[in-house]
Amino acid sequence: MSEPVVDTKVRTGGCLCGKIRFTVSGEPDYPHVCSCPHCQKRAGGPIQSWVSFPLEGLNWTGEAGEPTWFDTFPGETTRGFCAACGSSVAAFDYGDTLIGINLTALDDRDDPCLVPVNQSFRDDAVTWLPQVPDTQHSIIG
Ligand SMILES: [Zn+2]
Ligand SMILES: [Zn+2]
Repeated sequence: MSEPVVDTKVRTGGCLCGKIRFTVSGEPDYPHVCSCPHCQKRAGGPIQSWVSFPLEGLNWTGEAGEPTWFDTFPGETTRGFCAACGSSVAAFDYGDTLIGINLTALDDRDDPCLVPVNQSFRDDAVTWLPQVPDTQHSIIG
């Protein structure tokens, strides 16, 4: 058995206007898309795409600092967006050790390590767009 490859790459991202910028490092977890009603409304589109990183590897580096947070489930889940341009950039479950990052907020949106492996809330998905297949067979499980 070979050692699992640890992804230590530092990834950069931000919002459309650039006031929110961030870096994330550490192992990416579960890239996926989500078609839940919250994601659709917040995206202004039929899906949002997500990947999680260790919270301790996250740094807000833009002039606006942290995004503006909106509790979609008060006390449980909050979503971060740029107050200037409205871009969704992050989601956080209070108390979690991971931070959810919108794949579309990352500068490299074609990172082969971050291809979505599944789609959440399929029953809420629009009918006019093909769904992302469940291909998750990762070593993380
Ligand atoms: Zn912005
Ligand atoms: Zn969702």
